[in-house]
Amino acid sequence: MYDVIIAGAGVAGSTAARALAEQGRRILVLEERRHVGGNCYDEKDEHGTLVHLYGPHIFHTDCEHVWEFLSRFTKWKHFRHEVKAKTADGLIPVPFNLNALRTVFGERAERIEKKLLAVYGEGKKISVLDLMDAGDEELKSVGRYVYENIYLHYTMKQWGKKPEELDRSVTARVPVNITYDNSYFTDKYQAVPAEGFTSMFEKMLKHPNITVKTKARLEDFVQVRSRQILFQGEAFAGKIIFTGMLDEFFAYKHGRLPYRTLDIVFEHFERDAYQNVPVVNYTVSEAFTRITEYKYLTGQNISGTTISREYPKAYKGKAGEIAYYVIESEKSRALYEKYAEEAKAIENFYTLGRLAEYKYYDMDAIAGKALQLCRRLSEEGVWKS
Ligand code: UDP
Repeated sequence: MYDVIIAGAGVAGSTAARALAEQGRRILVLEERRHVGGNCYDEKDEHGTLVHLYGPHIFHTDCEHVWEFLSRFTKWKHFRHEVKAKTADGLIPVPFNLNALRTVFGERAERIEKKLLAVYGEGKKISVLDLMDAGDEELKSVGRYVYENIYLHYTMKQWGKKPEELDRSVTARVPVNITYDNSYFTDKYQAVPAEGFTSMFEKMLKHPNITVKTKARLEDFVQVRSRQILFQGEAFAGKIIFTGMLDEFFAYKHGRLPYRTLDIVFEHFERDAYQNVPVVNYTVSEAFTRITEYKYLTGQNISGTTISREYPKAYKGKAGEIAYYVIESEKSRALYEKYAEEAKAIENFYTLGRLAEYKYYDMDAIAGKALQLCRRLSEEGVWKS
């Protein structure tokens, strides 16, 4: 019946499903939740406000072919994202930049700016940990200010660890920018789907070769017996693309991989605006990391406003908990590799996406990986058998 079974209908699974369906493969997508779209899923709340149920998502990419692929399933609302941090010095732009420098350092800002331009150059991005290592004492002190006021407490809340205890790539995602441009991202394309993310994924999955089952667990359809795949008890000659948690799939036989989850709490206000900007990061106070005000993100022109607060915590695997973030470190990667070896040993079993590859990918990177895998499967002629 099916050539490929895909576990998960998030960015990875949906992109792969469509790309393979267009190669003429018959695809079954099994999705545990009641909906497709993974953590990008959005829906209207009871007040008619379009909210991202699993926290704010803004699509951004420099990758032309990923942008073209997704653009087949949605029109876009171009959106230049800005984030402010609530600090003792007021609301300042994140990433920390030359505007933030002027707000915080007053008269000293001009001198510091000259040094930053001389040492790093205009438009450069520096990780805060590198700035703290700068040769110049004054630049070092700027680094320490930014570390203390933007990164340390936020990162402790988000990860339960200090920035220097994490893989450096995590805080480098949000560098210090030597610019007056307050944009959060620098990608060529920055947008949200005009009708929302859910609509984009539903269109992507609408194809005669694709069957989607929601509230369906892979384990209820597929078993692995001596490295062979069984589908509903029969030998399965097709392929599995798995986008979930590998440790869970292998019943935690090597131990649990670490993830972070979030409690996302929504609140509605019968007034036009709550904070006037899409996202405010609480970098020195509060137990939550950020407040998102959705109408600014989605461009909805609606009375009343809905916000969300995100409270991060360790993922324990309780019913209904969602593993939003993988925690990359040498130790977790070594554990992950044990599971990856198990996965490789199964014939025709492919891992894809943030969870299954245990990488802190952005949406565009995942879509890019999915398209690459589908191209590889087609080019390698792996279907010939
Ligand atoms: N970060 C921070 N303060 C901020 C913004 C980001 O400390 O105001 C750090 C924090 O460790 C965070 C990481 O940078 O987890 C990556 O931030 P990003 O906004 O990319 O996180 P996401 O939107 O994926 O949750």
